[in-house]
Amino acid sequence: MEVLKDKILIASKEHKCTWCGEQIEKGEAYHYYTGIHDGHFQTTHLHIECSDELAEKASYWGEDYEFAPYMNDRPEVDGCEVGT
Ligand SMILES: [Zn+2]
Repeated sequence: MEVLKDKILIASKEHKCTWCGEQIEKGEAYHYYTGIHDGHFQTTHLHIECSDELAEKASYWGEDYEFAPYMNDRPEVDGCEVGT
């Protein structure tokens, strides 16, 4: 996978997290990257914690690690309860 852009952005509209399938809310920070994978242009939006989880898996399995989009568990964030 050739990464073209890799940065942390603040969502200006809602996105769906490619890792967990949950919504990334407007105004929330998220990890955005685009790249070429098997000749296909790919855009990925990730919660920060999902991005960390993916980075951890990728470092274990290697950089060609592939995951099933929207099918993974969103990691818990310590001390940051949302909606309470
Ligand atoms: Zn997520």
